[in-house]
Amino acid sequence: MVRIFAAVLATARTFSLLGIEVREVHVEVDVCSYGLQTFSLVGLPDAAVRESRERVRAAIANSGFDYPKHRVTANLAPADLPKAGPSFDLAIAAGLLAASKQLRPEQLDGVMLAGELALDGSIRRVPGAFAMAEQARELRVRAIVVPVPNGPEAALVQGLRVVPLERLEQLKRLGTDEEPAAPQPIQLSLNGAAPPGPDLSDLRGQPYLRDALEIAAAGGHSLLIIGPPGAGKSLAARRLPSILPPLTRSDAMEVLRVASACGLLGRGQLAVRRPFRAPHHTISTAGLVGGSSPPRPGEVTLAHRGVLFLDELGEFTREALEALRQPLEEGRVAITRARGAVELPCRFMLVAASNPCPCGRGEESGECECQPTSARRYRAKLSGALADRIDISVAVDRPSATEMGGRHGVDSATVRKRVVAARERQERRLGPGRCNADMDLVELRGAGQLSREARRTLARGHAQLGLSGRGYDRVLRVSRTIADLAGAERIEVEHVARAISLRRRGQE
Ligand SMILES: [Zn+2]
Repeated sequence: MVRIFAAVLATARTFSLLGIEVREVHVEVDVCSYGLQTFSLVGLPDAAVRESRERVRAAIANSGFDYPKHRVTANLAPADLPKAGPSFDLAIAAGLLAASKQLRPEQLDGVMLAGELALDGSIRRVPGAFAMAEQARELRVRAIVVPVPNGPEAALVQGLRVVPLERLEQLKRLGTDEEPAAPQPIQLSLNGAAPPGPDLSDLRGQPYLRDALEIAAAGGHSLLIIGPPGAGKSLAARRLPSILPPLTRSDAMEVLRVASACGLLGRGQLAVRRPFRAPHHTISTAGLVGGSSPPRPGEVTLAHRGVLFLDELGEFTREALEALRQPLEEGRVAITRARGAVELPCRFMLVAASNPCPCGRGEESGECECQPTSARRYRAKLSGALADRIDISVAVDRPSATEMGGRHGVDSATVRKRVVAARERQERRLGPGRCNADMDLVELRGAGQLSREARRTLARGHAQLGLSGRGYDRVLRVSRTIADLAGAERIEVEHVARAISLRRRGQE
């Protein structure tokens, strides 16, 4: 609803971006024909008001319009809605131009606008244009006006007129025959034959690591890789997105919404792919899981539908790792604010890597220089914070010279086909979009009968490895995925044995 007060001469509609969601904001502008020249802007935080006023004033003056000589008042409503960022500039300027009769009020009818103004009157890209366009379609407006660089993402929203503007003076063309033509939407390539990004064939040797990677991808399991520098931990992790199933259209839209809200969309053509995020271990907790003021997505959200890679796991602060637990469990993160909470999605696969000990060589190498106590403390830290969230942990060594000089390994496309087939089996059992890593205990227990020998092997492993209850469940979970990769309905002894071996080698 547009609220009209007696004093308001013009209203323009825009958006406030909160996390990755947007809310509608009305800019009400009153221009007086008497009094001193002032510009009061209310409804924004102080610092933003000052900056926006300067930009709007200069942009209007530099675009061939007249800046009003008397009192201007602009109000951003609703007042209690948090507002951040410079994307209100364009709507403030449009309201001011309509209130001062330099635009016809009907030109702003049924139109929502977003854009940051430069002092020279050009319009700069804003974050969140995709979510804004979705909101505009929901509100059934006639058109959304966005900066030219945001046009392709806004145009992805079907059934909505998108007007891309480069400069403020082009506002005159709104609602006329000269309104700029709709931009071409971003090209979505969802089911391309070739997986995007670096290819698994680059990984020489390391059959054990490849196995772990494929099983993790097939079941959506989180993975810890322990090995000395040069063992290919990071190289392997970076290739994980290339063997994950292609994004569905709705998942791609979620990835796009996050990338758009974080201002990460590139210009022009763009293939939406599963994100791979590898934050440095010095990252703050807010940087990792999201910050509150303004609400800002963290790495877990940037990794939504993709991979979060924590290299040097033992170097991350305990606080940061603890903060990962809830997002890992729930697939969403709540950012609490003074006025309610913002919720952000974060369904990602966790891959962590670590040296075997502080010196990196590992005790088994015989060259380890670490004090036994410090090596023990290091391992304790690895098995601490997130151990109960990690389904697969593997220990790897550097590949031998022969392996390095050997043939390329199997490529990502081949592995991805197997992963996709295994995921399809899981979806048939668990429902669309779900995988073995998502199973609760009831589902896990009913997830496929174990053959009698498999059950015996599992029990023996349980006793010999001293697995905890959770460890037992994880072996069962990973066994299920190995059976799915093999196309087997029943979990057989070889599936369990392989799952146990994936635990044993990495387990201290
Ligand atoms: Zn060492």
